[in-house]
Amino acid sequence: MIAFDLFCSNGHKFECWFKDSASCGEQIASHMVSCPVCDDHQIERAFSPFMIKSDGGKKEEEFDSQHVQQALQVITDYIDKHFEDVGADFYKEALKIHSGEAEKRNIKGTATTEEEVILKEEGVTFFKVPIIKKMLN
Ligand SMILES: [Zn+2]
Repeated sequence: MIAFDLFCSNGHKFECWFKDSASCGEQIASHMVSCPVCDDHQIERAFSPFMIKSDGGKKEEEFDSQHVQQALQVITDYIDKHFEDVGADFYKEALKIHSGEAEKRNIKGTATTEEEVILKEEGVTFFKVPIIKKMLN
């Protein structure tokens, strides 16, 4: 299951669950999705879907956006405490650590798409963490 933030043409934001990204696109295109506020069918998908794999035994309410946001907050707090912020130098530092030029340590920062590709090619292991945006009004 995957949750998408959707917007109607009147700017109402709501969340919808779909089987996958393709079925979300299909249902929007065939006007099967409507805004819960104004019943508008001109729906657009927001960026950055988050994916959740349910074990099937749990109810979907347990995976609502509030819980996800709390979980992300815990991760972000952990990273804030345990990772050195190198900002836009992430790419350079990661390569230095990878090649042994710099001390092995946890770092965090930002990278461009091109830089990510190079890091992957170099075999550098890194994780992408979503930036928390206010999902709840
Ligand atoms: Zn609406």
